Amino acid sequence: MPRPSTIAIDGPAASGKSTIGGVLARRLGYLYLDTGAMYRAVTWMALERRVDIGDEEGVTALAREIEIAITKPTVDDGRQYTVLADGKDVTWEIRRPEVDAHVSPVSAYPGVRQVLSEQQRRIGQQGAVVMIGRDIGTVVMPDADLKIYLDASAEERARRRYLELLERGEHADYEEILRAMRRRDRIDSNRAVAPLRAADDAIRVDTDNLSVDEVLKVVEGIVEDASVGVEKGITL
Ligand code: C5P
Repeated sequence: MPRPSTIAIDGPAASGKSTIGGVLARRLGYLYLDTGAMYRAVTWMALERRVDIGDEEGVTALAREIEIAITKPTVDDGRQYTVLADGKDVTWEIRRPEVDAHVSPVSAYPGVRQVLSEQQRRIGQQGAVVMIGRDIGTVVMPDADLKIYLDASAEERARRRYLELLERGEHADYEEILRAMRRRDRIDSNRAVAPLRAADDAIRVDTDNLSVDEVLKVVEGIVEDASVGVEKGITL
């Protein structure tokens, strides 16, 4: 079997998807698409335009109307990619706590998911892509050549986010982060449409006791194995 062309990486917040997905895509020379950035861009725009987050119709109409583009980094400031919402660079704005707090309800709206999943599917069809999210292996690219599900305990994920914020010189409160993380997990896992879950044929990687480099090594090994045709469904 040749190298997998479409690679889906799913998992909860701060499970390491974006770091691992970004490096993997670069090493393979593939396109990297972080679908969470798209849900974040819609949420940011709703807050910016003061659309009530509880207004499903209003938020869905906004998702249909705005143009989201994810491009190669346009500024050398540590970003993995640039996110444009109707032409405005919102790469860092979409990482703000207000967006964190509202993105899960926004992404639970079926109409919003439909609009964004369609855009993601079209990108996936071009191949040579590493796509990360919550429902890539289950809904967006159910036929992906390789599906990986990265997991870690809520405590470990909150610890990572906490250290990340400190590193950027931002205010961080571990307990608050852990609470917000659990809330987001709960909404993402229990929503009716495309809930967060591993596809049956995904390879699960528990990253709790692994460093980024170690996870990367495991994931690259999985890609290698997939290239020679390994049986799927292994739990590491
Ligand atoms: O991955 P990230 O934390 O940036 O995603 C932000 C939010 O977007 C998630 O908490 C989830 O609610 C939503 N999301 C989603 N489906 C995806 C990617 C993200 O529902 N494929």
